[in-house]
Amino acid sequence: MLRVIMRATMKHAEILVIGQGAAGLCAAISAKEAADEAAVPVKVTLVDAQSDQQCGGNTRWSPSNIRLKVDHQVEPGFVNAMLEQSGGRAEAAYFEQIASQSVELVKWLESMGVQFQSPPYYLARGPARIQPIGGGASLLKHLTARAVELGVQLVHELRMTDLQVEAGRVVGMSGRTPDQTVVALHADAVVLGCGGFEGNARMLAEHLGQAAAGFRLISPGTAHNDGAGMLAALAIGAQTAGDFSGAHAEPIDARSQQSAPVVLIYPYGVVVNALGQRFFDEGAGLMHETWEQFAHDMQFNCPGGTAYVITDASLRDIPDYQRAIRSEQPPIEASSLEEMAGLLGLPQDTLLQTVKTFNAACRPSSQGFDATVTDGLACYPANQPPKTNWALALQRPPFLAWPLVGALVYTLGGLKTDLHARVLGPQGPITGLYAAGEITGHFYGLAPNSVAMLRALIYGRIAGRRAFEDLEESKMS
Ligand SMILES: Cc1cc2nc3c(=O)[nH]c(=O)nc-3n(C[C@H](O)[C@H](O)[C@H](O)COP(=O)(O)OP(=O)(O)OC[C@H]3O[C@@H](n4cnc5c(N)ncnc54)[C@H](O)[C@@H]3O)c2cc1C
Repeated sequence: MLRVIMRATMKHAEILVIGQGAAGLCAAISAKEAADEAAVPVKVTLVDAQSDQQCGGNTRWSPSNIRLKVDHQVEPGFVNAMLEQSGGRAEAAYFEQIASQSVELVKWLESMGVQFQSPPYYLARGPARIQPIGGGASLLKHLTARAVELGVQLVHELRMTDLQVEAGRVVGMSGRTPDQTVVALHADAVVLGCGGFEGNARMLAEHLGQAAAGFRLISPGTAHNDGAGMLAALAIGAQTAGDFSGAHAEPIDARSQQSAPVVLIYPYGVVVNALGQRFFDEGAGLMHETWEQFAHDMQFNCPGGTAYVITDASLRDIPDYQRAIRSEQPPIEASSLEEMAGLLGLPQDTLLQTVKTFNAACRPSSQGFDATVTDGLACYPANQPPKTNWALALQRPPFLAWPLVGALVYTLGGLKTDLHARVLGPQGPITGLYAAGEITGHFYGLAPNSVAMLRALIYGRIAGRRAFEDLEESKMS
């Protein structure tokens, strides 16, 4: 096998960034900007396993809702909400830094041409969010253009598999091209922005349980994050953090082959499994508070990994209800529940009994129904889970249904990093190694809503600048 060693003439320091998603691009840009400010020549190379057209991992496919107010600050109570979400396991300082740098981050992104808007988030209200116009694909375009403008060298189709260490510091990486040529690249510092292990069935089975290996992946780019970068860092002593048994997942239309065909109207109907039985409280909270657990329940506990949301015609009375359905597949429509059972292949008797019992527990009128907030319209059907909000009887044809499965978005466990995005080993920071974004572990329990992109951008930016500053400092010592 051919082994290609690329070693620069060492006139300039070299920073290697692995992964051309949000975290990696921010790292590459900020390293280059910091070097330019200091008038120090530094070569920054950004390596991605995919081609120019395919790179970008989750970023390329992400709508990128970002948990900031229109003034680009976090909402009051943001840090506490993050700690609460994690069951007290997350590090407050990590989120405090996100809070303190958000305004500056958005200004920086806007200077590269990224524009933001604040569209409504599906149907239910919740924390304030902004979104880059054009989503993650537009972020990718603008950040890549800026990186190229600054002279960052892009290397595609090189999958990093190993990190090289000499005298206790990271001095490069090696990887493989699609034809299995081994390529080694020298570096004075390496920044890892190459995603979680959502695309690695073996690691998913190991950490989340066997059933996780069969998770649908929410987007084509999700499959590209196969944990190789994380494994390379672990092999040289990197410590881990974050919840290795956790992963963000969302309910999608089982029939669709599109990216992210989420169906998020389930709080306004009933959800049954393949046996025709309800199995959770569809109205336990706002959609973004229940979707992850629901998606996991389908994958881990439902027969066949599938469930069915069924509503009646009143769904269509909810203003803009289509905003919460991103599937190109039309709903399955039936004029009776008997017919619906047949169309979905569900046991008719059980489905009819499930809905009859559910309907009997609902209030007779829909007064007070409000899809946008937890409206308190609860019901407590016998021998079924309660429905805490939005409980309306299913009685007005046509009945509508979507078959659903859980789709994996990103894993929560990753590398342990400090506030400077340095990867931590047993004795403290591993010299010359930095990481940001999904490859790092800072989330526990359920993923915090609309924070994944924000942290990739902020800590990517921190990582690149810090990599440069540490190199400068090491020259002086
Ligand atoms: C459909 C969808 C919806 C989402 N919605 C939101 C949302 O609304 N709000 C939010 O905050 N977050 C959301 N997310 C999550 C968010 O987009 C991601 O967490 C974020 O984009 C991660 O950025 P990253 O740079 O860490 O990783 P990625 O963007 O995944 O980039 C990783 C890069 O590394 C490359 N790579 C992987 N392994 C290697 C290797 N061994 N060698 C070289 N290169 C490698 C990949 O090709 C890829 O280009 C969503 C994600 C998806 C897919």
